[in-house]
Amino acid sequence: MEDHSADAAMLDRIEGELEAVEAAMRRLDDGSYARCEVCGAELDAAALDGDPLATCCASHRT
Ligand SMILES: [Zn+2]
Repeated sequence: MEDHSADAAMLDRIEGELEAVEAAMRRLDDGSYARCEVCGAELDAAALDGDPLATCCASHRT
């Protein structure tokens, strides 16, 4: 028996990641990439190293 629900969950996750990548590319385009979307602070390289798709600075990350 194959577990199709696990496949579906994985697909959902991949689709979510793709959306995050597309959103990051849009931010690259409009110049808001690597900036906190709450306070506008520039994200430091270490934070982007840990999560290249980060959208918030350390104090606003959930
Ligand atoms: Zn912030």
